[in-house]
Amino acid sequence: MHSLVVTAAFAAALLASLGLKFWLATRQARHVARHRDAVPAPFAGTVTPEAHRKAADYTLAKGRFGLLSTAFSGAVLLGWTLLGGLDSLNSVLLGTVGVEWGPMAYQLALLAAFVLIGAALDAPFEWWSTFRIEQRFGFNRMTTGLWLADQAKGLAVGALIGLPLAALILWIMGATGGLWWLWAWVAWVGFNLTLLVLYPTVIAPLFNKFEPLADEALKGRVQALMQRCGFAAKGLFVMDGSRRSAHANAYFTGLGASKRVVFFDTLLSRLAPAEVEAVLAHELGHFKRRHVVKRMAGIFGLSLAGLALLGWLASQPAFYLGLGVRPNLGAPNDALALLLFMLALPPFTFFVSPLAAALSRKHEFEADAYACEQADGRALASALLKLHEDNASTLTPDPLYARFYYSHPPAGERLAALPEPVAS
Ligand SMILES: [Zn+2]
Repeated sequence: MHSLVVTAAFAAALLASLGLKFWLATRQARHVARHRDAVPAPFAGTVTPEAHRKAADYTLAKGRFGLLSTAFSGAVLLGWTLLGGLDSLNSVLLGTVGVEWGPMAYQLALLAAFVLIGAALDAPFEWWSTFRIEQRFGFNRMTTGLWLADQAKGLAVGALIGLPLAALILWIMGATGGLWWLWAWVAWVGFNLTLLVLYPTVIAPLFNKFEPLADEALKGRVQALMQRCGFAAKGLFVMDGSRRSAHANAYFTGLGASKRVVFFDTLLSRLAPAEVEAVLAHELGHFKRRHVVKRMAGIFGLSLAGLALLGWLASQPAFYLGLGVRPNLGAPNDALALLLFMLALPPFTFFVSPLAAALSRKHEFEADAYACEQADGRALASALLKLHEDNASTLTPDPLYARFYYSHPPAGERLAALPEPVAS
């Protein structure tokens, strides 16, 4: 393999993916703007013109900002790779940390420095999104103090979990020979399963308060539903989502004994008990139809394929040289290979992401159908509509944009698929 082939393939994928992103975003903006002033017929009685216009303006504002951050990320990616950013960072750390502390410390320092620089570059965008866009549309509930504390906690937790994992993977890469990618995959799967158990009980409580669901009437209702569906979960919790945002949500989390249902307080304050029950029935549908297991199996399968590919690429000098990095001669290249792979892969996988989105939308339809069997379909429809309105999701997305990106079906299609659509 020649390094020019690698450079050309990467540059072509990057340009094509950026071009496609811009084209789709432009289509979406035009479509939403064109339908801004008329509520679509099926929603005429249920959605006010004000809410519809707000959703359009919110979608347009997020879209414009998205274009800016896409352009910026493209430039940063080019800076790391072909323009030599990663190569410079690597030689600095190799000459300092590598000389002082040895090869493992140098590799961990390289990963850590990369993550920290990335976080610093992203921070202004996150800040703007929260305190300008979300704020303007009345969704933000965060103070600058809480935002800074979140950032600091996120980095601390990331270091606490990420550094030992990185050290383990790097050790496997250096010590287990040609099949290192298989062992690394075993470690990766084990790590993810552990995280599934630890996340709800240890990590999430660092960022939010979780209190047992206190509303006895709702609790009885929810427990009856779960019994009906043959479900055992350790607990029903209410999370103080309102500390950060007005957006509402509910989710199911954990594995084995740490399994729990979490309602955002913003969801409970907005939905009637029958609607909460229907939303939970939808979440249970994801488990009953084995979506969660299928998704995990898919992700683990893809990561095995990815690691096998990396196992081959990491031994090819052209892989490094073609992406703007000189491989180390007297030190391990494992951290470099991992970083380059993580940088170079997304422009390629972007083109298959619509498949994942389509599968996810299929699962949403199935979970809705399950919810209608176990709970009140009309309550599900009105809950979906309320959540749509509260999140200011547009009712008129560009069809192609939605096909490409949407993990959930557009509201029109989704409500039309329910047995008792509100629109009748
Ligand atoms: Zn769902």
